[in-house]
Amino acid sequence: MNQTYFLDDRQFYKIEDLAAYYDSPEFEQRYTYYGTDLGASYTPRQTTFKVWAPGADAVSVCLYEKGRMSEDASDRHGENETVPAPDCQRKIPLKKDEDHPGVFSVSVAGNLKNTFYTYLVERASSVEETADLYAKACGVNGYRSMVVDLRDTDPKGWNKDSYRFRKPSTDAIIWETHIRDFSIDRHSGMKYKGKYLAFTERGTTLNNDGIHPTGTAYLQQLGITHVHLMPVFDFATVNEERPQDEQYNWGYDPINWNCPEGSYSTNPEKGAVRIFEMKRMVLALHQAGIGVIMDVVYNHTYRTEDSYQQKTVPFYYYRTVGGKGEGDSESTHFANGSGCGNEIATERSMMRLYLLDSIRYWAEEYHVDGFRFDLMGLIDVQTMNEVRTMLDEIGKKNGKHYLIYGEPWAASQAALKEPAIPADMRHLADLSDDIAVFSDQTRDAIKGSAFEKTSPGFINGGLGKECAIVDAVRGQVKPGGAMRSSQTITYASSHDNFTLWDKIALTVKGDGSGFDSPEMLRLADNKLSAAIVLTSQGIPFFQSGEEFGRSKYSIGNSYNSDSRINELKWERTVVFRELKDYYEGLIRIRKSFSPFRDDTSRTAHNICICAAENQVVAYTIPGKRKGEPVMMAVCFNASCESRFVDLKAPDGVKLPTEWDILANEKTAGVQPITSVSGTRMMVYLRGVLIAASKEKIS
Ligand code: CA
Repeated sequence: MNQTYFLDDRQFYKIEDLAAYYDSPEFEQRYTYYGTDLGASYTPRQTTFKVWAPGADAVSVCLYEKGRMSEDASDRHGENETVPAPDCQRKIPLKKDEDHPGVFSVSVAGNLKNTFYTYLVERASSVEETADLYAKACGVNGYRSMVVDLRDTDPKGWNKDSYRFRKPSTDAIIWETHIRDFSIDRHSGMKYKGKYLAFTERGTTLNNDGIHPTGTAYLQQLGITHVHLMPVFDFATVNEERPQDEQYNWGYDPINWNCPEGSYSTNPEKGAVRIFEMKRMVLALHQAGIGVIMDVVYNHTYRTEDSYQQKTVPFYYYRTVGGKGEGDSESTHFANGSGCGNEIATERSMMRLYLLDSIRYWAEEYHVDGFRFDLMGLIDVQTMNEVRTMLDEIGKKNGKHYLIYGEPWAASQAALKEPAIPADMRHLADLSDDIAVFSDQTRDAIKGSAFEKTSPGFINGGLGKECAIVDAVRGQVKPGGAMRSSQTITYASSHDNFTLWDKIALTVKGDGSGFDSPEMLRLADNKLSAAIVLTSQGIPFFQSGEEFGRSKYSIGNSYNSDSRINELKWERTVVFRELKDYYEGLIRIRKSFSPFRDDTSRTAHNICICAAENQVVAYTIPGKRKGEPVMMAVCFNASCESRFVDLKAPDGVKLPTEWDILANEKTAGVQPITSVSGTRMMVYLRGVLIAASKEKIS
């Protein structure tokens, strides 16, 4: 990194000095560009290319017929590189925009639809060929950008897409999945295995048996409200040129933030196909009444020194540490709070604007309904709050309520400088109360530490977890915790770490055997977990297949394991039918009783804890709406013997004495299983009891 950088007739010999200039109000005022036309703006008569590259001496656009680079070219690095690549057809210089320092642009006449392009960015010490950071389409593997006519990519019925999720956020029930996992199983009954289009297939069944639904039809029956898709923007670690190979990656390695991933499309060579097919997927889910959440990774990029960000504006998009008087190292280097080689400087104005524009683009162009921010603890609070404000503004126009949530942590300390503050667990009070965070406290209280294989939580025999479960029930609404329940994602499992079933298998028997059999005690533990997640305050979330005992055979970090480990094994919906039905029933119960879904802090405070000791937690919760039971009672018994619980009511509320049992250790649903009188409930060992007062609110 011993280069000299020039900017505004200044010379920067040290990266820390350059970074300090980027952080200065002087730079921000001079260079921040508020236009929304960066990238390639297409019309049939001309295409305008616009680049933000302060300090560049010259920028040119290189046009290509092919999106694919030769194998040799795609491996090129640094000095041996010849730019542009030999198959460049035209090289057109961009002009400096006199009104907007740092901006370069050119309009190229003619119809450039589906033309591939790159930029050449020239600086005193280097010439770099790079894809367009702002590209909306790209060629195979994302090395070259593509001019696209987005109106060509709209599926039939796109303008009539009428899906609207409305407030509150706590009405959502989120099911997290991965495009490939969803359909790749040979028993899935889906044709487009591993592709976006699998979500568009209707009426699919297990082994095409015509009886057991799979895919989108299955989701409708399950009753979840949103599918959360692990990364679907263009990522690096699956070679799109080799679709015939068994390749797998979760996809947390972005290269083009505004293009869909090509390997999930039927033709990654043609840049418009992946856009069209992703839109078809969104539309099909919307038609099934299901919202779509994108898992977005703006906290780092896959590449660092040779990323498009770094080639376009060196060191602007990344935080740096070290240098004189800072840290241990003499030399400045990329900060690495992501654990993936870098971290993005979201606090800098053009990166913040980029992130906002990118979110707006996915929301408006792709009709996406929510966003899950990976390692949100690396993003600054102001940026996150501006995302909330912007999506609320869009929602005012289209009637939608967008979900926003994220991981309130980083892989290691964020290199964010004051006054910027990270959107992490310690700063919930500064974060919008309608941005939710994953509660690792809830997760670990339920099933035990995510990192210690055999350490149990409440459901699998852990002792002393009762108070932590009470916090979970209240959606972590407490001093120093969430301000409202809309700020909490209540969950027991996600793609990270062991699946819930594996964790139970590892803790209950210790040897981790029998991942495939629905053994009774484990089923009981799993049901307990589901009942806690689906009755607690906050936004319930679960990993796809949690409801049918999904196993990854004790592999926690399966980010590049093959599909046999990661795929949803649809036969388990039959083998674990009792468990799947139980989730379905709990979802119905949650939907039927509004206090479970209160997005304020009121219900969290109104809950009356009846028991929180000896592996039993029980509470009552008053109804709110006309027609609802005046009260529900929810009891969890994680002990190995049946227990009695004496119900209590919140102060000033009469305790009902006639109850319908909606859920017990066997089944759950809105149809009463049986009725009981009195205020003493017997809860079966490792069992659940959910009772609704017979009396309704009139
Ligand atoms: Ca890719």
